[in-house]
Amino acid sequence: MIEEKGILFILSGPSGVGKGTVRKSLFDLDTELKYSISMTTRPPREGEVDGIDYFFKTKQEFEDMIENNKMIEYAQYVGNYYGTPKDYVEEQLDNGNDVFLEIEVQGALQVKENFPEGVFVFLIPPSLEELKDRIISRGTETEDKVTNRLAAAKKEIEMMDYYDYVVVNDQVSTAVQTIQSIVRSEHCKRERV
Ligand code: 5GP
Repeated sequence: MIEEKGILFILSGPSGVGKGTVRKSLFDLDTELKYSISMTTRPPREGEVDGIDYFFKTKQEFEDMIENNKMIEYAQYVGNYYGTPKDYVEEQLDNGNDVFLEIEVQGALQVKENFPEGVFVFLIPPSLEELKDRIISRGTETEDKVTNRLAAAKKEIEMMDYYDYVVVNDQVSTAVQTIQSIVRSEHCKRERV
């Protein structure tokens, strides 16, 4: 017999490592996983669509969700709230669907407390030098901010012991394949005869 509840997969890792790119490539290929769309108070970037990229909310709306215990986790990141609404995740897991979260490190640690049975995947850069290059090449950060982000990333990388898997994001396609293997192997592990 196969397990009935879905599995919660959490992809996290330091800022600038490429979590978003890996997640998007994975979902271009994989239709079985259900992506939990996050809620944020940051304004949409050009091309982002409400209800697809994020649920864009006001600070008040977000704080109401927190107050009403409607979030699995949330964090403040660069002056904005980001978080995972509870209803969708619980409903999908109860229906036997696997759910995928792509979130920063503080939020992932909260999920670990409430969903210890989740599968925690930590994405790391091939090296800190490479991470610095990636942050700079985004072109959105001043030199001071690059230094701050790198310092934060070093601290975040120390959290990797809390994770079940560590995946190096050298090539996006290889990282995606590795995550697909993790999904398959977790299903094998949980199958009951
Ligand atoms: P961005 O503003 O670039 O879309 O996202 C900034 C950071 O927030 C990224 O590291 C992303 O993984 C993280 N993030 C996105 N959604 C969530 C969420 O629901 N919860 C938490 N804790 N972090 C999130």
